[in-house]
Amino acid sequence: MNIPFVSFLPLEHELNSDLRDAFDRVFASSWYIEGKEDEVFENSFADYCGSSYCVGVGNGLDALMLSLKALNIGEGDEVIVPSNTYIATALAVTYVGATPVFVEPDIRTFNINPELIEEAVTFKTKAIMPVHLYGQACDMDPIMEIAKKHGLRVVEDCAQAHGATYKGQKVGTFGDAAGFSFYPGKNLGALGDAGAVVTNDKNLADKIRALGNYGSDYKYHHIYLGNNSRLDEMQAAFLSAKLPHLDRMNEERRRIAGMYTEGIKNTKVIKPYVSPDCVPVWHIYGVRCDSRDSLEKHLNERGIGTNKHYPIPMHLQACYKDLNILKGALPIAEKISATELSLPMYYGMTHEEAQYVIDSVNEFNGD
Ligand SMILES: *Cc1c(COP(=O)(O)O)cnc(C)c1O
Repeated sequence: MNIPFVSFLPLEHELNSDLRDAFDRVFASSWYIEGKEDEVFENSFADYCGSSYCVGVGNGLDALMLSLKALNIGEGDEVIVPSNTYIATALAVTYVGATPVFVEPDIRTFNINPELIEEAVTFKTKAIMPVHLYGQACDMDPIMEIAKKHGLRVVEDCAQAHGATYKGQKVGTFGDAAGFSFYPGKNLGALGDAGAVVTNDKNLADKIRALGNYGSDYKYHHIYLGNNSRLDEMQAAFLSAKLPHLDRMNEERRRIAGMYTEGIKNTKVIKPYVSPDCVPVWHIYGVRCDSRDSLEKHLNERGIGTNKHYPIPMHLQACYKDLNILKGALPIAEKISATELSLPMYYGMTHEEAQYVIDSVNEFNGD
C-alpha cells in the first residue's frame, strides 16, 4: 500500500466544481486585489473564529509580523516564543527588529510550558507568542494571566490550529491578535500562499490592514512604512469554497487520530498527549521514538510517507547563529527534534490506510 504523508486529492476531487466556480467568478470580474471576495471571506472567517475582525494578508508569516508591527513591537524589544515551532514564528519577531526569546515546551503536548514563561520575562519583554502547535491549543489560562500580570501583549500563532478549542473557546480569540496561515498544507489551505489576522480590536485591525497595503489608509496617503501583503481575490474565493467544510475536515482528522491513538500499541512509540481542556484539529500527528530514524525507514519501506517537525530546532539553525544559543541550551526542543516523527494525516484518508499505518508502526521492533 502507498500512503503519502499528505494528499490534497480527496478534497480537491470533492470540491472540484466549487473551486472552478470560484475561479470563474473572479476571472469574470477581472478584479484581483482588494475586492469583495476578500471582504466576504474575511467576514466569514471572523465569524468562524468567533472574532470581530479579520484582515486577509499574503501569508502566515506576514500575519504574525504585521500583528507585532501594529502593536509597536520593534528594536530593543523581546518577544517570548516557544523553542519548538516552525521558524516563521521567530522570524516574525526578528523582522520587526525585536529579539525572539525561546521558552521550552512541555514534552507531552509539544506546546510552550507556561511554568517556564515567567522566568524568561525581562524589562525588555513586550509580548508572548503562543503557538498552538500541531493543532492543539496551548494552556491559555496561565499564559493570559502572566501576560496580564506583566503588561505583555499576546499574539497567537494559529497557523496549525484552525478551529481548535481550549475550554470550548476557539484559538485566535484569547490574545490581542492571532495569525493564521492558509498555506496549502494547513487545515484550511488556499491554492497558493495566503494568511489572515483575527482580532477583536478595531484600531488594530485597521492598522494591520493599512500596514499590509503599503501603509496606506486611503489611496496614495501613506501613514506608515508599510508592506505589500494582501489576500488576493482568487485565493479568497478558493478559501470561501473550502471554509464551509473545515469542521468536517477537522472531524475526519480527529477520526484518524483517534484510530492511531487507539491502535498504536508499540511500547517504543510515545503517542501525543491531549489535554482534557483541548479539542485539537490534528494538523500533525506526531509520535516520539528513541530510534526515530529507523522507525521512519521502516515506515517508508512499507510505502508510508512521514515527516519530521522539525529536524533542526530554531536556535541551532544557521540563520540564528548570532543569537549564540549553544547546543544543549534548550534540551527539550532538541529532544523533540531528535525523536519526533509525523504520521500521515489528511482529509480523505481511508480506514484501511489508517489501519495499515497502525499495523506498520506496531510491527516496528526497535532498531
Ligand atoms: C506555516 C506556519 C507559519 C507560516 O505560515 P506561511 O503561510 O507559510 O507564511 C507560521 N507558524 C507556524 C507554526 C506554521 O506552521
